[in-house]
Amino acid sequence: MKQFILIASITCSLLLSGPAHAKNVILFLGDGMGISTVTAARIFAGQQKGLDGEEYDLAFDRFENVALVKTYNTDAQVPDSAGTISAIVTGQKTRMGVLSVTADVPRGDCVKALNHELPTILQLAESAGYASGVVSTARITHATPAGTYAHAPDRNWENSSEMTDEQRAFGCKDIAQQLIDMDHGDGVDVILGGGRAQFYPDSTNDPEYADKTGARDDGRNLVQAWLKKGNNRMYAWNQEGFEKFDTSPDKQYMALFEPSHMQFEADRPRDPGGEPSVAEMTAFAIKRLQNNRKGYFLLVESGRIDHAHHFSNAYRALSDTVAMSDAVAAALELVDLDETLILVTADHSHTMTISGYPPRGNPILGKVPQPEDPSYRIEGALPYTTLSYANGPGYSETLPDLSDVDTTAPNYQQLGTVPLPSETHGGEDVAAFATGKNADAVRGTMEQNKLFDVMMGALFDDNKKDKK
Ligand SMILES: [Zn+2]
Repeated sequence: MKQFILIASITCSLLLSGPAHAKNVILFLGDGMGISTVTAARIFAGQQKGLDGEEYDLAFDRFENVALVKTYNTDAQVPDSAGTISAIVTGQKTRMGVLSVTADVPRGDCVKALNHELPTILQLAESAGYASGVVSTARITHATPAGTYAHAPDRNWENSSEMTDEQRAFGCKDIAQQLIDMDHGDGVDVILGGGRAQFYPDSTNDPEYADKTGARDDGRNLVQAWLKKGNNRMYAWNQEGFEKFDTSPDKQYMALFEPSHMQFEADRPRDPGGEPSVAEMTAFAIKRLQNNRKGYFLLVESGRIDHAHHFSNAYRALSDTVAMSDAVAAALELVDLDETLILVTADHSHTMTISGYPPRGNPILGKVPQPEDPSYRIEGALPYTTLSYANGPGYSETLPDLSDVDTTAPNYQQLGTVPLPSETHGGEDVAAFATGKNADAVRGTMEQNKLFDVMMGALFDDNKKDKK
């Protein structure tokens, strides 16, 4: 009888409360990772494994839910990273160049921005007792990561020296300061990326590069300020310090591996202080955040795909995309998809195209050979690369003779049709790939701000069906 009552009460409590499930969202954002970048990176990764490449799958190619995403900003047909991340993390599209404020705010308008802030999913999660993390290979104050924790009428307000005295007097804060001062929950629990100059005064020497200093003109050392704000915080600036991080549930962690952006994946082995890969940072963040019983929100940005494209250097754009795929694979090893949404997307595209008629298995960074069939061969035609850009610094007045050029070399800069100092973003749709909790809401052609609803559904709505 006693046994029966015990079993009945356990069953009853299970029925009433259900098993305790954490609710987690991991947003992987490949900055500038348009669809042609995904295709080319997939072939690149496959060819590195000795395959033809076209048939290979990146980790997120296997996700069962895919959508096209419309990326325009409220005032721009071809968007930037600030307006787009704001749409993804607040649920509202806004202007180019502003961070998590409404479209009413003109760029640079401090006072208007203060009154038109939009709460972000990271802030809502922290306020509700979830854990949170921001991981980026770019500066942690750069547009994409900043959009999750800061509100600013100008994405360039990364440190005090980027703002006027008047703007500061009105109470506007630079982005680094906002990260340190965040008063939602207990602040961001895991902060891993580049950009440490934004946190140090201009009188402080950089620990890794003797010729560099901090960037702040207000004399503040925000790393010290951050360490003092919590009683259990760890900071690192290199691989050695990062390896000392445990994943204690009551500790908070910040690592800033470079004064500016972290290294491209292709250059990482030569970094003087050593840097972890985006996969290693992702695994650390998940291990720490999953100690929170309620759940967590984590942004992982592969921020330099975009930079490599702006330089028209496809090699680094593709190798950084493969590094992000490895990070997604690392996440899949660690999470329970019954309680976790993994969403992989891009903020915007670039102008890179995959063209010509290269045969199957032709090196993706290589040249398009003349067709085998003599009737299709063009006498005297110069070789050109499969990958090229619609504009950018690779412009050349006449087509250069690439016959003796190794276009697969890491530093090769692809041709661009229109001369511009920096290749531009592209305006076509990007893809969103999703698996896990609430992932089936990612389908069709979606407005970019609707990705916010998908993530909120996975994080807060108990009625959303678990889906593997
Ligand atoms: Zn860009």
